[in-house]
Amino acid sequence: MAQGQTDNRKLTKGVEEVFQQQKERDTQANAKALGMPYANLMTIPVNPDLADILSKEDAIEAKAALYFQVGKRLRLAVLDPTSEKTKALIDRFRVAGYTLEVSLCSEESLKAGHKIYYTETYQKQEEMKNVVEEKDLGTYMKEIESLKDLKAKIEAASFDKALNYIQIGAYKTHSSDIHFEPEEKQVVVRFRIDGVLQTVFDITPKAYAGVLTEIKYLSHLKLNIVNMPQDGQYSFLVNDRQINVRVSTLPTHYGEATVMRLLDSDQANVTFDALGFEGSALERIKEATRLSHGMVLVTGPTGSGKTTTLYSMLRCIDTKAKKVITLEDPIEYNLPGISQSQVEEEKGYTFATGLRSILRQDPDVIMVGEVRDVETAETAVQASLTGHLVFSTLHTNSAIESIPRLLNMGVRSFVLAPALNLIVAQRLVRKLCPACSMTSAITEAEKSTISETLDSLQKRGIAVPALPTELKHPKGCPVCSDTGFKDQVAIAEVLPFDQNLRDLILSNAPMPQVYDYIEKNLKMTSVREDGVLKVVRGLTTLEEVDRVAR
Ligand SMILES: [Zn+2]
Repeated sequence: MAQGQTDNRKLTKGVEEVFQQQKERDTQANAKALGMPYANLMTIPVNPDLADILSKEDAIEAKAALYFQVGKRLRLAVLDPTSEKTKALIDRFRVAGYTLEVSLCSEESLKAGHKIYYTETYQKQEEMKNVVEEKDLGTYMKEIESLKDLKAKIEAASFDKALNYIQIGAYKTHSSDIHFEPEEKQVVVRFRIDGVLQTVFDITPKAYAGVLTEIKYLSHLKLNIVNMPQDGQYSFLVNDRQINVRVSTLPTHYGEATVMRLLDSDQANVTFDALGFEGSALERIKEATRLSHGMVLVTGPTGSGKTTTLYSMLRCIDTKAKKVITLEDPIEYNLPGISQSQVEEEKGYTFATGLRSILRQDPDVIMVGEVRDVETAETAVQASLTGHLVFSTLHTNSAIESIPRLLNMGVRSFVLAPALNLIVAQRLVRKLCPACSMTSAITEAEKSTISETLDSLQKRGIAVPALPTELKHPKGCPVCSDTGFKDQVAIAEVLPFDQNLRDLILSNAPMPQVYDYIEKNLKMTSVREDGVLKVVRGLTTLEEVDRVAR
């Protein structure tokens, strides 16, 4: 019986081999008829590194397999050269500057070529790295003296080099985002520098197509999908610093718009002083990080530096003695000594469910990226009442506004009141460039704005500086890429909770009464007032403060 089965298998195998040989001969004949070379990938060992150039998704969709590369010369085997998807892939390679030799192969052969996607190295490689060689880095750095030099460099460079110029240009100017915006005749490239978008240059649609292909390869996006939004990521190394890049594409009228967010790992090491917290605000924050339980919230709109502040707080905690777990969406920077987990909505790992899982891990300190719903809010509040120090963020404009926001969400006042320790609301303003800022006499309008703020602060018992006679203004120089500003600083309000304030919330006192108590008793400087104080000290301008905190 067993013998018979073996014989049958041998026989089947033999028949298959004959069939396959016939198929290969047919493919060979077809190739000849089409005037193309024929390839048999079953007999060629394919280098798994080629998976870096052609993603698994693209290879399967275009029914194509790469099997040879020398520099920018590639050999591609395809099942059907007339297929639209195959043709689109070939075009994209050519646009990206590759020379291509396309050969015909059989279905079995294609399968063999796709084996590289099932090897361990490919499976492990979740994220690609774009490493700028040390010797090239110096050249790039030197060549990009100013943003103006970039355009010429990019247009003259090959597409992979062009992307390096753009990345390093963005890195050198401390940009947080790179935007590519296709218009009718050109693609506008803008950098977000210190929170403000600056148009850097425009490039031809052809150059953009090449750069975009490079970006898509690196971030594992599907090359041939242009009519749907896609998200991906990769990282590049510069001066031993890993910069993570989050890529997002969006179909627009004139083609795909791309935004790249650069997350510099060093940003996680910013100190409170560098952030702009000082005096009693800084004292109050540091004190809150030493508590054993309760809730600390950081509020503000997107891009107001909430994450950086939260990370700075977490870094104040002794992680050797305390277990710190975070739940983030997404994890922006890696923090040593801290267990960070990422929300995955599609897998059912939400803020609410994730928070419950985290609580089973016996943490001392928890950071929940964002409180968006009542379930998360209640769980976070409960956790802070049962011996955990909880940090989180809310999208509110002011610290005080967070109280009615949480109550309106459905958190009950008798659990909220005892839980709250501290609420920080913040914005980021650009700092005047120290190399070029100019001083001029204060105008009547400036004088009235500033004295109004100083008077109000003084009335509440907060120490204020004298009314200045002159103020600093932006000019522009090579140090600040002609923007007049360099780096950002937080302007913030820090609301501490005392027993009286808790009692007011507990007794459901009307909000105006709560506001009145805070104003008269807690010596809190508002976001705008903190901004004006930083104008007086020559750190920023009234226009900047107005821009973010009117
Ligand atoms: Zn300057």
